[in-house]
Amino acid sequence: MSLRPLIMKFGGSSLADAACMKAAAKLVRNALPDAPLVVLSAMGKTTDGLFRAARMAAQGQLEEALEAHTALMERHRQAAAKLLPLERTASVLQEIAQHGGELATILTGLSMVRELSPRSMDAVASQGERLSTLVFARFLAAEGIEVHLADARRVLRTDAKSGVATPQPKAIAALAAEHIAPHLGAGRVVVTQGYIGSTADGLVTTLGRGGSDYSAALLGAALGAREVQIWTDVEGVLTCDPRMVPGAKPIPELSFAEAAELAAFGAKVLHPATIQPAIEADIPVTVRSTMKPNGRHSVIRGDVKSGRAITALASRAPVAVVTVSSSRMLDQPGFLARLFDIFGRNGISVDIVATAEISVSLTVDNDAETDNALAEIRAFASATVVRDRAIVALVGEQLRSTPGIAARTFTALGDLNIEMISMGANEINLSLVLKKDDVPEALRRLHAELLPGDDA
Ligand code: ADP
Ligand code: ASP
Ligand code: MG
Repeated sequence: MSLRPLIMKFGGSSLADAACMKAAAKLVRNALPDAPLVVLSAMGKTTDGLFRAARMAAQGQLEEALEAHTALMERHRQAAAKLLPLERTASVLQEIAQHGGELATILTGLSMVRELSPRSMDAVASQGERLSTLVFARFLAAEGIEVHLADARRVLRTDAKSGVATPQPKAIAALAAEHIAPHLGAGRVVVTQGYIGSTADGLVTTLGRGGSDYSAALLGAALGAREVQIWTDVEGVLTCDPRMVPGAKPIPELSFAEAAELAAFGAKVLHPATIQPAIEADIPVTVRSTMKPNGRHSVIRGDVKSGRAITALASRAPVAVVTVSSSRMLDQPGFLARLFDIFGRNGISVDIVATAEISVSLTVDNDAETDNALAEIRAFASATVVRDRAIVALVGEQLRSTPGIAARTFTALGDLNIEMISMGANEINLSLVLKKDDVPEALRRLHAELLPGDDA
């Protein structure tokens, strides 16, 4: 098929209520000539609510879980009632009730067995996207738009790692060609769920929190899309998380590498895996504001040469830092290999690494179970772990080749203690480790020094 569809992904905040859904639908209508495939998150904070309900049920608090369930259902009923004309409302309310019944059954089951496996959690969590797409697709249809509601579980094939499933791009391409492309080709808008998928034998899975962005990029790559649009509540990828630095500004253009690095180091606006399928298929990703569609936005493309020393700041917390010291490290060939082998065997993934002559520091997950690994290491070196640290990352294409960045960074941070520093191997990322509580102040100081602007 030569048709190059447009992927339009709307996040939870863009679907928070009927008014938001109307704004999103207007954008879809304007894009009709571009063959839009609409990928939706759950409404607002529905997924958080579903997680809470599942946990309560599994703790035996069925009544509370069902109260949360009622509130979630009510949110969807209200949106449907506001969006749909009276004659169409009853049938949609019935469809919502069917989902509600399914969810209540699962919650009741969880309260009986008092356990919550990742598999059960996926069964619960998947209801959020199934409900939002149902309401939105029925609304588009009521607006006179020809629409097909595609079940992502028939397209987004994954392995069986519940909660963090790995997508299978080849199968997804074949399934998208079968279940989505023909509808787009026939001039229909296709609406489908982000975040959820299924295994070959039909087990529902999810891609991890925030995974709808990833779904959008996977489907974009599968269908050879012209662009993947991420519609959200900010006017693009900003120079810093606006909740930390209110003066952060949208970045008009970013390279794939810069965007991938920012996402990996905590810029929540993009799921960290999103960029990968887009890079492979060379599809531009844009980040836009649903409520200010004519405002600013960001374009992320492979051929962008920003030439900037610093493009943006990101932060991720909490993390733990393991420091291993040995006076014999220097004359011990294979010291690092041995260390990584120990972490690997203990299922601990290492994030950033900084080495000195007789010590090496590594960051790991804050909740990582480190006792066994540390015991093994202590047979040949001393080892300590400190928790509740944070990584602050400076990202920019010309970071490495611009003199003076490090000096300005240290001066700006002043009395805030930097516990570890690491230059990323791709040379566009300088990572610092600080105490978690110092992060807001560190970001404000660094932004003012390195990314000053009218409003900084
Ligand atoms: P959605 O529901 O649309 O998926 P998210 O909440 O996942 O939205 O992502 C958007 C949020 O990401 C923004 O509201 C902002 O608070 C946060 N964010 C963190 N870092 C950045 C950044 N560098 N640029 C833009 N937004 C960021
Ligand atoms: N609804 C899911 C979540 O809240 C996926 C997403 O929003 O991208 O994590
Ligand atoms: Mg998101």
